[in-house]
Amino acid sequence: MSDQKIQTAFQAFHEFHPTTSGDLIDGSQPECWIAPSSVEEASKAVKTAYALSMPIVIVGSGTALSLGAPVSQPFIVLETKNLNQIVEYVPEDLTITVGAGMSLAGLQAVLSENGQYLPVNPAPSDEVSIGGALATGMVGPWRGNVPSIRDLIIGATTIQGDGTLVKSGGRVVKNVTGYDLHRLHVGALGTLGIVAETTFKVVPLPAVSEIVITAVSSEEEAIAIGTELRRIGLAIRALTLLSEEVSLLLGVDESPHLLIDFAGSKSAVEFSKKQLEAMSASSPRLLDASFYRQLRRIFAGENRMIVRIGVLITAVSPVMKWMHAHDMAAYSNISAGHIMAELPRSDEISESTVLDLLRELRDLSESYAGYLILERAPESIRQAFVPLIDTNSALTAELARSLDPRRLLNTGRFEGS
Ligand SMILES: Cc1cc2nc3c(=O)[nH]c(=O)nc-3n(C[C@H](O)[C@H](O)[C@H](O)COP(=O)(O)OP(=O)(O)OC[C@H]3O[C@@H](n4cnc5c(N)ncnc54)[C@H](O)[C@@H]3O)c2cc1C
Repeated sequence: MSDQKIQTAFQAFHEFHPTTSGDLIDGSQPECWIAPSSVEEASKAVKTAYALSMPIVIVGSGTALSLGAPVSQPFIVLETKNLNQIVEYVPEDLTITVGAGMSLAGLQAVLSENGQYLPVNPAPSDEVSIGGALATGMVGPWRGNVPSIRDLIIGATTIQGDGTLVKSGGRVVKNVTGYDLHRLHVGALGTLGIVAETTFKVVPLPAVSEIVITAVSSEEEAIAIGTELRRIGLAIRALTLLSEEVSLLLGVDESPHLLIDFAGSKSAVEFSKKQLEAMSASSPRLLDASFYRQLRRIFAGENRMIVRIGVLITAVSPVMKWMHAHDMAAYSNISAGHIMAELPRSDEISESTVLDLLRELRDLSESYAGYLILERAPESIRQAFVPLIDTNSALTAELARSLDPRRLLNTGRFEGS
């Protein structure tokens, strides 16, 4: 298809601009870039792309565009930044409906005015969009103690691959009819539709929240303390095990540490801290609330190779030990069994060594019935490495076919989609 034909087809859409070599996604220059100003306009743009069989790459705030396999080309970009309105907020019902281009931080600011919040971890960057948070299915250290973003969506308006607008769920918490189709989009990396608007149930902000750190002698000790704290049913929002390497990067002593986020009423938090003191061999220290952001930022930046693994809590310790033996810095949410780890930098070891390490880690995760996702890596590694996640199942393929008949949305992001 000629460049001219594409430009003509999309130039009437909001914030249309031809692209430059600075707009590369997965190393390719999009044919053009649009940022529709309404859900209806976005739907019309997708219908236009469908008629031309032109693939679309969806962009939220653009912080995780290299997550998943590289997209196929050519493509146009549809950015959601102008779908950023609060559609409806009913504080008494604890529900809010917002455009998917709104930032998660912006949503929390609106909710906090009414003493409420969406109980998901603050994202590493204030720009992260709601659509991006949903599509990446990212969860932080709170998962396992508070609901995930997937549990908090009660309705959505999405755009299918042929441009059809679909509404699922509703704007009230007690919603009993229909399938929860909106939940399919969590973690789908935009391959099953564009999330245009979402309705969330929200909760009151806790009266007190405090973060405490304590040194532990081993991963096993951290998990034993964490399991016991959870068993007693204390006011815990997160339990994070920091490896020796991560502790060092964060400027605390060189030994594994357990990080505990307490949240609840003042008396519940005080009681919980006392219980922890009684269990810890070393004295727990209070930390600033910004520590979590620091933790997430340690793996940020260029030239990093980051993996995310999910295993049963009982397998966290052997996987973390394996990582330690292979010089990998790691931290783990020990309430949910998620581990984030960094491989040695690509300029420190050869590509074939990286791939061997990744395959070994994938086998290890598989032996514990877990999953492994490459969060960030150079494009050549992303091309060569197949993560441990079932993207080729008949069910996934059938879903993709019915929601995006020509496979035009983020084509190739999910290997086989
Ligand atoms: C609770 C939480 C914890 C996090 N923890 C970490 C962490 O520990 N480490 C870390 O590095 N990052 C973390 N993140 C950030 C996360 O990795 C992503 O960077 C972020 O969610 C992407 O948002 P974005 O708007 O920049 O999306 P983009 O980078 O713009 O897009 C990401 C993907 O989503 C698709 N997409 C975007 N918007 C839509 C939409 N409306 N509909 C369909 N598909 C869409 C895109 O096509 C792309 O495939 C966390 C985020 C959250 C919310």
